[in-house]
Amino acid sequence: MEFLKELRRRHLGRRRDRDPNFPVSSWIGEDILSKGRVGRSITVILNTPGCRWAYEHGGCTMCGYLMDSSPGRITAEHIINQFNYAIEKYYREIEENPKDICIKIFTSGSFLDEREVPEEARRYILKKMGELDIEEVVIESRPEYIREDTLEEAREYLGSVNMEIGVGVETFNEEIRHYSINKGISNRDIVDTLELARKYSIGMKAYLLIKPLFITERDAIEDSIYSGNRCLELGFNRISYCPATVHRGTLMEILWKRGQYRPPFLWSVLKILYQVKRRNPDAIVICDTSGISSKRGAHNLLRCKCNEKIKKIIKNFTLTQDLSGIKRALEMECCKDQWESFLEFEERNIVPLGDI
Ligand code: SF4
Ligand SMILES: [Zn+2]
Repeated sequence: MEFLKELRRRHLGRRRDRDPNFPVSSWIGEDILSKGRVGRSITVILNTPGCRWAYEHGGCTMCGYLMDSSPGRITAEHIINQFNYAIEKYYREIEENPKDICIKIFTSGSFLDEREVPEEARRYILKKMGELDIEEVVIESRPEYIREDTLEEAREYLGSVNMEIGVGVETFNEEIRHYSINKGISNRDIVDTLELARKYSIGMKAYLLIKPLFITERDAIEDSIYSGNRCLELGFNRISYCPATVHRGTLMEILWKRGQYRPPFLWSVLKILYQVKRRNPDAIVICDTSGISSKRGAHNLLRCKCNEKIKKIIKNFTLTQDLSGIKRALEMECCKDQWESFLEFEERNIVPLGDI
């Protein structure tokens, strides 16, 4: 952990100064809403001081979000200005059909941590979203900030607007979560948080990492299938797979550069999505496609023509929840033999491999 803290400290000096009155970014796009209907979501990445877990404990081994955070002081007023900027930017779309809109307020950390989003700003944002009477609101938070009083307050401000909280569960294997990811969260924390959210009719989304450090590709596939099934069984409203992408300034990057880590194959991602969705046909199973096909993101053989094709198929699956495209992709040959050989060879080699 000391090593991770030192690694963060070294990289923090390279953060860019940003105008604290503007969000890191904001965009609108088609998305699958919590009831399974396709609508549009407005995503706003707020500029905050950043994840406390990363500052105080070195953070998770694959996460470079702290680099998005602001080196300068950020006040409640700044955060309110950032939020208002994004709402004004998309006001026409919201006004046109509010019940088609989901607003996602992300911070590259925890929206419910008052060190990141002061109480005054949090209340302002929740109240405003309740007044806009949109379909749903999504935030992200580590479990330790998901408390009874904040959930009660959110429910009160949002009224009938659906709320979903995304939590980085990453895996349901505590050993992997601890040693490979340094997450600092137990299964008990997750189950307790789920129960609390249920009490306030707040939905929960589990982010699951595909291929943490120190495990083989084959174990990563098994881990993701097991964890996805377990989260759905426990009552998460949806699961969102994040195939690992090598972020700058992380332990993952160090090992990747030394040839001791390779992001997952897309064949593995397809297999995971297929198996979990087939077992839970009514559940929403989504997959992040950012980074896919680049050398730092999930890829099959680099520059193989199947990468872009599969990326499109996964995007389409996330939106439609229709497994037929994934099934067809899994029947393709392309570079599948090399993937199978990699799985076998890595297993015999014991130590996880880099790119071949
Ligand atoms: S993954 Fe989440 S909890 Fe972990 S360091 Fe990144 S922002 Fe913090
Ligand atoms: Zn291929």
